Amino acid sequence: MATIDTTRSTHEVLNQPPRLEPLNLFEADLALREGLERELGGWGADRVRELGALAGAQETREHMWRAEHNEPRLRTHDRYGHRIDEVELDPSWHWLLRVAVERELHSLPWGDPQPGGHVVRAALFHLWSQASGGVMCPVSMTYAAIPALRDGAPELAAQWEPRLTLADYERGALAGMAMTEKQGGSDVRANTTRADALGDGSYELWGHKWFCSYPPCDVFLVLAQARAGLSCFLIERGPGMEFQRLKDKLGTRSLPSSEVEFSGIRGQLIGEEGRGIPAIIRMVNHTRLDCLIGAAAGMRRGVIEAVHHARYRHAFGAPLIEQPAMLNVLSDLAIESEAATTTAMRIARSYDDDDAPFRRFATAVMKYWTCKRAPAHAAEALECLGGNGFVEDSGMPQLYRDSPLGSIWEGSGNVSALDVLRAMVKEPDGLPAFIAECELAGGADARLDAHLGRLRNSLASLLDAADPQFVARRVVEDLAVALQASLLVRHAPAVVADAFCAGRLGDGGRVYGTLPAGVDARAMIDRALAA
Ligand SMILES: Cc1cc2nc3c(=O)[nH]c(=O)nc-3n(C[C@H](O)[C@H](O)[C@H](O)COP(=O)(O)OP(=O)(O)OC[C@H]3O[C@@H](n4cnc5c(N)ncnc54)[C@H](O)[C@@H]3O)c2cc1C
Repeated sequence: MATIDTTRSTHEVLNQPPRLEPLNLFEADLALREGLERELGGWGADRVRELGALAGAQETREHMWRAEHNEPRLRTHDRYGHRIDEVELDPSWHWLLRVAVERELHSLPWGDPQPGGHVVRAALFHLWSQASGGVMCPVSMTYAAIPALRDGAPELAAQWEPRLTLADYERGALAGMAMTEKQGGSDVRANTTRADALGDGSYELWGHKWFCSYPPCDVFLVLAQARAGLSCFLIERGPGMEFQRLKDKLGTRSLPSSEVEFSGIRGQLIGEEGRGIPAIIRMVNHTRLDCLIGAAAGMRRGVIEAVHHARYRHAFGAPLIEQPAMLNVLSDLAIESEAATTTAMRIARSYDDDDAPFRRFATAVMKYWTCKRAPAHAAEALECLGGNGFVEDSGMPQLYRDSPLGSIWEGSGNVSALDVLRAMVKEPDGLPAFIAECELAGGADARLDAHLGRLRNSLASLLDAADPQFVARRVVEDLAVALQASLLVRHAPAVVADAFCAGRLGDGGRVYGTLPAGVDARAMIDRALAA
């Protein structure tokens, strides 16, 4: 029978893991470091390292906490009854957003383009998303607005780009987006917001948007119905644009997302009248890249917290990290995180290479898959902390609450999966480019070869199937793990690639923590977070 030491105080705190010491989130992340080098972003390592240190600093954690727990409030009128539409934001929100802007997370590849610009930005975005998912919304929108403006309205780009790309929080400008209406978000053709041509090249917009991003943005890209059909406009925040309320959301609670009414605000056309969807898709493709980087970042944060906790917490006489069932869970979380980061960095490079067929297809596939995997990953990482993980102090509830957003925003799960099917038909170069990338690892792992063989067969019969949409998710999932496996087989240490192929292509189970016997779990955990 165990003896109890009766000389100990009943309230001595035992067996609670210490606070995570300040950690350079870049230095600690081998998958990110290697990805940055491999995808030609090595020249940015110093600036990425600098942000990695800040992202893992105690000061940043405190700002995150304050911004999350001091939620924004909308003040629509002043005491004289004048419309003001001001959002009160905690100073910590401004601190977090300022860091992102001053480090050019909204603009890096656009200013002075050099090979690897999108890759360096992706690494910065990955790190700062671990500090604040909320501020990354206006950061991402601003980054993504530039290609839409350049393509669709060069004169507006010339007017706005200098401010939208400025690394100055006070003098620069931010861009937002308003597409979604009550009657349809995925199906934006159902939009009823109206754009009346004024005859001088500009339009007046009338209608309501059920979701609009960060109200303090200076400009917004908006969809509205013009005479020739759904069209894309740039509007400048001001009279004629009234914010009605902020959304009371599950997650990203520090971020004010809003509902807005347009009553005659001036809009400038982007692209052609009636071609609003292609115009805004230029923006959406870039924000989808950020969704997948953000999901990978959330996984990375979950792994750090879970591994740290398990190293210090004992149960049944041993640290959790030495207990086989926990080893399986932690290593499974670690390979998912590494696969997500490695894929995100590869896809970021396709934006530098201007490799349109691969970029377009791979972004759709991996946006679907990485964002879908994120909530279960966050839940499992949270569970590694036991009851503490369910309590706000741990930070895990915020990670969990934020995790489903990526899979709703910029194309919900089904819509993303159907987008991949559409791309197979409408952009016939995309699928072959994607498969060719997967095949670069051909012959290196029999499980991957077998998976690619099955995939080719199912793709061959897919478009002839009675109802391809019914199986869309399954096909996209198979494509996604094929790319992840191919990248890991070529670039990751053998233990990681082996575990991924065994767990995701072989006879692994269905939830995290079901890697088959024989994988080197300890090596994967040590790689994920050095002790
Ligand atoms: C925090 C947050 C911030 C947001 N910010 C913005 C913003 O800044 N600007 C903006 O414009 N919008 C924004 N949105 C809105 C978001 O883009 C939409 O909610 C999203 O596109 C889905 O649209 P919906 O809500 O109308 O759902 P619906 O389109 O009604 O979809 C409901 C469900 O049906 C599925 N579905 C839809 N079509 C099909 C189909 N053909 N086949 C099978 N299933 C289908 C979807 O996958 C989804 O699961 C934001 C949303 C959130 C949660």
